[in-house]
Amino acid sequence: MEIPSLNKQQEFTLASVTDLTSPSSSLSSSPVVATFSCVNEVKELRFQESKSSDGFSFDLSSTQLFKLGPLLFTCVSDGSSSSAKEKSSFSRGVVIKFRDEKDSKEFCDSFEECKKDDAVKQGSALPNGTVVSANKSKFDDKIEAASAKMYFHYYGQLLHQQNMLQDYVRTGTYHAAVMENRSDFSGRVVVDVGAGSGILSMFAALAGAKHVYAVEASEMAEYARKLIAGNPLLAERITVIKGKIEDIELPEKADVLISEPMGTLLVNERMLETYVIARDRFLSPNGKMFPTVGRIHMAPFADEFLFVEMANKALFWQQQNYYGVDLTPLYVSAHQGYFSQPVVDAFDPRLLVAPSMFHVIDFTKMTEEQFYEIDIPLKFTASVCTRIHGLACWFDVLFDGSTVQRWFTTAPGAPTTHWYQIRCVLSQPIHVMAGQEITGRLHLIAHSAQSYTINLTLSAKMWGPGANQGGILQTSSCKLDLKEPYYRMSQPQVYPTQEPPAQSQDIHIHSDDLEELELLQQNANAQL
Ligand code: SAH
Repeated sequence: MEIPSLNKQQEFTLASVTDLTSPSSSLSSSPVVATFSCVNEVKELRFQESKSSDGFSFDLSSTQLFKLGPLLFTCVSDGSSSSAKEKSSFSRGVVIKFRDEKDSKEFCDSFEECKKDDAVKQGSALPNGTVVSANKSKFDDKIEAASAKMYFHYYGQLLHQQNMLQDYVRTGTYHAAVMENRSDFSGRVVVDVGAGSGILSMFAALAGAKHVYAVEASEMAEYARKLIAGNPLLAERITVIKGKIEDIELPEKADVLISEPMGTLLVNERMLETYVIARDRFLSPNGKMFPTVGRIHMAPFADEFLFVEMANKALFWQQQNYYGVDLTPLYVSAHQGYFSQPVVDAFDPRLLVAPSMFHVIDFTKMTEEQFYEIDIPLKFTASVCTRIHGLACWFDVLFDGSTVQRWFTTAPGAPTTHWYQIRCVLSQPIHVMAGQEITGRLHLIAHSAQSYTINLTLSAKMWGPGANQGGILQTSSCKLDLKEPYYRMSQPQVYPTQEPPAQSQDIHIHSDDLEELELLQQNANAQL
């Protein structure tokens, strides 16, 4: 964003501008251009119809901007300035409508920059709490624009919402948790945090909510409106608000928050931060959160087949004569690349080689900042003598209703969900004896692409000679990007009995994986 500087101008085309002091003289018949200009130290914001010379200016030093909605702002000048061209003794206000949110954001950024510049020059701070700091939100500060754009584009598509709706384990558990806790919803104000298609808002309305605010940032908000309008008995008690939780305002506090903010490894997508921001902004002190608590479960696993499969993928780069080209310079990088991808699939729980442990994330207490870095010390006792290939993880969440406490789990062996499970694979396996202690650390660091860098270390003492005299520690570490998972499924596994004989869709499949994938599928089927 370019900052208006001395003798520089910046222009914005607006959808309309309405003068509050004389609405009849609104500049809206043809496109209106707003220009920030700084000429001879005088900072102005000028509104002018593009095809006429009519217009008026605000002196920025006495002008404030208030947000009314994503596209609607009001700009008010107290008229006390002596530097505006059209000097007046009364306040002036206009309502500005932007063509899209990008324009409104850029306009606000320019406005803020100009004011900031001004305040610095005057050696004073901006008046406290008056100027709306535009819609440069907390979200925009920490998340890359490109990541957010792709993320909300994804959720704006019906097929992805359908994918979640068709995860009947997920949606059915939410439905049950709401319906069996009607007393928590009946007559209450509810906020649906990231409403998507609006399904959870409608569950809350079905359970007797007085009013539901369905907040959704993506284009899905329009579909949610349409879907909710088609259910008139519920529609009168649901308001869809298009915008980010971090940016929007609500007319009242909520008694209940409902949301489905969980990603792979619980924390992927960084939407739990949005959930706790919603708690701090909109939930009344004794309000309820559905879900209430989450847990990340972890256990070491042994899976020789997976390990070999991953190591083999990089073998391609071992070729010394690929159409006459030596590929080996990239072998190490390719190998590292494969081992930096967390593996997502449904595995047989018999692959786990120690009782699992868990790390609790209490949505009612966690601060937003506590999600930036999550450090989990690990300690397991091996049940068998084996080679450990890494750490398997899954999560569950609790709906702590007043009537029924219901857990929703994505554990291996439980009915499969669209989250499956996740495994962090070590490029150097470690050897353990039954009863031996395995220690380590799972360190998650949030990044601006709405995901986490995972650092995993597992250690076990060497066994054999010297073990009793302190022993030598075998340690193996890996660094993975949770944003780049390796989806290792042959076909949708959630409801194999309801699927037509499988035509694999949107899945990575390699001929050498087929045999194993078949085995995997049989295991998954056996679980259901
Ligand atoms: N509640 C729906 C959708 C869950 S998916 C259901 O259970 O089926 C999460 C949704 O939250 C997505 O539609 C996504 O666009 C939305 N979302 C994510 N971050 C958001 C934010 N900061 N503000 C508003 N909506 C958000």
